[in-house]
Amino acid sequence: MTENLPPCPKCSCEYTYEMNALVVCPECGHEWVPADGGTEDGEGAGERVVKDAVGNVLRDGDSVVVVKALKVKGSPSGIKAGTKVRNIRLVDGVAGHDIDCKIDGFGAMQLKSSVVKKA
Ligand SMILES: [Zn+2]
Repeated sequence: MTENLPPCPKCSCEYTYEMNALVVCPECGHEWVPADGGTEDGEGAGERVVKDAVGNVLRDGDSVVVVKALKVKGSPSGIKAGTKVRNIRLVDGVAGHDIDCKIDGFGAMQLKSSVVKKA
């Protein structure tokens, strides 16, 4: 079972590992709680609102459509505009990538909310 752990938010190191509900970065020693934690849409202060390309609020589990062609490392075709993405997860990713998802034919990846539209 391979868990898709987020890269370190401090140094972008990708070789993070899990330790007691924390994610640990071997490069800089940063430890944090993964976004995927047990807190379900609580009234948590500072909850982020993620909006799609036209301003709809996105939530975990939403389906979206990619609105512009995206280059993908290692793929000659990339992701085409109009590609449907089901069951997204909102994350605090690197470089403004705030959606974690799986795309048919590409696997798990992170997208920016600015390139999708709620389906
Ligand atoms: Zn780090």
